[in-house]
Amino acid sequence: MREIPGAWRRTARGAGLLGPGDAPAPTIFAEMTALAARTGAINLGQGFPDEDGPAEVREAALAAIADGANQYAPGRGVPVLLDAIAAHQRRFYDLEVDPQREVLVTAGATEALAATLLALIDSPDDEVVVFEPYYDSYAACVALAGARLVPVPLRFPDFQPDLDELARAVTDRTRIILVNDPHNPTGAVFSADVRAEIVRLARLHDALIVTDEVYEHLVFDGAHVPLATLPGAAERTLSISSGGKTFSMTGWKIGWVTGPADLVDAVLAVKQFLTYTNGTPFQPAIAAGLGLPDAYFSGIAATLRAKRDLLGDGLRAAGFDVSIAAGSYFTVADAAPFLSSGQDAADFCRALPERAGVVAIPLTAFASPQHRAQYASLVRFAACKRTEVIAEASARLSALR
Ligand code: PMP
Ligand code: GLN
Repeated sequence: MREIPGAWRRTARGAGLLGPGDAPAPTIFAEMTALAARTGAINLGQGFPDEDGPAEVREAALAAIADGANQYAPGRGVPVLLDAIAAHQRRFYDLEVDPQREVLVTAGATEALAATLLALIDSPDDEVVVFEPYYDSYAACVALAGARLVPVPLRFPDFQPDLDELARAVTDRTRIILVNDPHNPTGAVFSADVRAEIVRLARLHDALIVTDEVYEHLVFDGAHVPLATLPGAAERTLSISSGGKTFSMTGWKIGWVTGPADLVDAVLAVKQFLTYTNGTPFQPAIAAGLGLPDAYFSGIAATLRAKRDLLGDGLRAAGFDVSIAAGSYFTVADAAPFLSSGQDAADFCRALPERAGVVAIPLTAFASPQHRAQYASLVRFAACKRTEVIAEASARLSALR
């Protein structure tokens, strides 16, 4: 085999995706969706809805294409979307951001995260504190940027961090505390104490806060609280979100970053050489979505909450111990009763299509290699599917016993 130089190897290794012989492997989501397609199993793995989002939003994209919005968008994003993002931050969170200077549209939250980490990390001694299990791209991008990932563990079933462990993880070497709330894969929503401690530590150690709030409108009790709204946080926080989850259009890949102008400029300096811009006709469509009435936003949370309950009941009936998600698309269950000796959740998930006709994601895929043992029996199931699909998956899983 030819030796291919470059940063790909440490990026793949960072995400735990370097297989035997150093061959790069696909992400766990790609692998499991391909497995579902191959076996015909119900896909409760990769988090994407099996129904389209609102007609108004889809029609706005069609209209934009018909109206000729088909060339490059301006580097920061189309003005109507910049305005809509600023209006959304004010409407839901009382946050004031200048649409011209403090908002940047990106190719999904994924590019926002990549550009932000690449922009703000500069040395192998820089540390990025994350909550483990963590979304796979965090470890990949931190490794690509050449910095060190410092994981703070979240433990089944409530998945709130221990405040002492959090305090020990943040030091003067911490460049960024990266916070995904509501949290993928655990469905946790951080408590007010955790939020306050994150901001206190960031200020104490002069670290930046980067948030991933893609599930901001999928909180099941009460309202989402962005870290940027806490006293003393806004000046050191970049908030990231996207339209994929809120509007059930995960393929559109329209995301954004908001925060202080100098930090947004730094992210733009990198982002403009990653994609430059993307999704011109989808940008005004997402702007239309952000302007939908309150009933739309409360409706998606209520609908997903009911699906979480249905999925949780099905998993419990099948014999799993279940963590009750407070937000996001996901529910974590303990598959320990179904593991034979020496098996872990990854083995279980690879065998699940054959055993039960269902696909799910092992939590080990969201953990650093040295911490995988802590998550060895845990499995993530996606609830963002039609009710009849969740019911059928539950019935199939009950055959595991
Ligand atoms: N962050 C988290 C926590 C996610 O679950 C996802 C997956 N949808 C993303 C980021 C990526 O978002 P996007 O599809 O907008 O790139
Ligand atoms: N966010 C989705 C999930 O967690 C996956 C997106 C992807 O495949 N990169 O399932």
